[in-house]
Amino acid sequence: MTKATRMTKQKRVILDVLKSTKSHPPADWIYMQARKELPNLSLGTVYRNLNILKDMGEILELNYGSTLSRYDGNPQEHYHFVCEKCGAVLDVDIPIQKELDMLAAQALETEIKHHRLEFYGTCRKCKAAGPQS
Ligand code: ZN
Ligand code: MN
Repeated sequence: MTKATRMTKQKRVILDVLKSTKSHPPADWIYMQARKELPNLSLGTVYRNLNILKDMGEILELNYGSTLSRYDGNPQEHYHFVCEKCGAVLDVDIPIQKELDMLAAQALETEIKHHRLEFYGTCRKCKAAGPQS
């Protein structure tokens, strides 16, 4: 770690849990998994360490309106798709982040620091399951 904050065993386990999944889980799921390794862990400690890991730039916190925060072990800026049926959060790998910033910068004749963009719809699994599911 180059940052001032220490990578404790707790943080390491939480980070490993998060990096082992592509499901963008909420804190309580991370808590259940991390407890297999650290039985004395509390949910509050998980939340506290998730916040620290976020501040360290190791993870992303995803917040879509009123739903609980979900967490991403990939700290690189990237887009997400939210399934309106099952709530799944999927990565959208389209390399247009910089281009969008450039286009907006041109339109506004100023600099863009960052932008937010989310995709919504029905995921492939829910679509295959049919309209009654
Ligand atoms: Zn779905
Ligand atoms: Mn992601």
